[in-house]
Amino acid sequence: MQEVYHAFGKLDVVKGVDLDVAPGEVVCLLGPSGCGKTTLLRIAAGLEVLQQGRVSLNGGETAVPRGRHVPPEKRNVGLAFQDSALFPHLSVLENVTFGLKSEPPLQRRQRALALLEQLGMAGYADTYPHMLSGGQQQRVALARALAPEPRLMLLDEPFSSLDARLRDRIRDDTLHVLKKVGAATLLVTHDPEEAMFMADRIALMRDGCIVQTGTPRELYCTPCDPFVVSFFGEVN
Ligand code: ATP
Repeated sequence: MQEVYHAFGKLDVVKGVDLDVAPGEVVCLLGPSGCGKTTLLRIAAGLEVLQQGRVSLNGGETAVPRGRHVPPEKRNVGLAFQDSALFPHLSVLENVTFGLKSEPPLQRRQRALALLEQLGMAGYADTYPHMLSGGQQQRVALARALAPEPRLMLLDEPFSSLDARLRDRIRDDTLHVLKKVGAATLLVTHDPEEAMFMADRIALMRDGCIVQTGTPRELYCTPCDPFVVSFFGEVN
């Protein structure tokens, strides 16, 4: 995306953001609460109509203000948001295979079961969402997003409902799956430690702007201003 601006009424939320993600790369959008991270993700997904700037996916122009707007379902993106609700009337397996309609049933099933296993949810295929904890539902939502092997994965605080011990393992497993699928991934988090662990590059945001983009090491070792220092001061 280039030169993206976004306002809700009179509130300027995104103020000129340039950001790109390469295939197979994980970029973490990091920043304090309210700095505009989710809004940027929603713009990339097509859930917000672009007001200013450009969004391109896979080399093609996806959205321009007052013009082209490829709808979310046609963007080949996988979405796992904080509130990504599972279909309550479908089993875990059916939730994960939902987006795989064009594949033969056996292949669908195998892919979904493999993903569930990789995300520590083997054995839950026939259960229903209401029987799962928040963290388990989050993992099913991740599997559902990954199942169609999208070119772009958009993840908003995907590990927020997991307890600390489980979180480390699921982060690890998710990273492994993302790299295997080769998806370009934009992951929103407010947790510097999570960004250090997951990211090939971090884009650190403050108040609607990206303050610094670089590898975790670059941001940690060569911060461009005191805000970056203060943010990473919390990571050991
Ligand atoms: P958090 O880490 O708390 O989720 P964030 O960095 O993802 O925050 P956003 O959710 O993008 O931030 O919100 C940025 C600002 O835009 C906030 O001030 C928020 O209140 C406001 N905002 C977000 N969505 C809307 C909306 N639909 N209508 C009006 N204001 C909104």
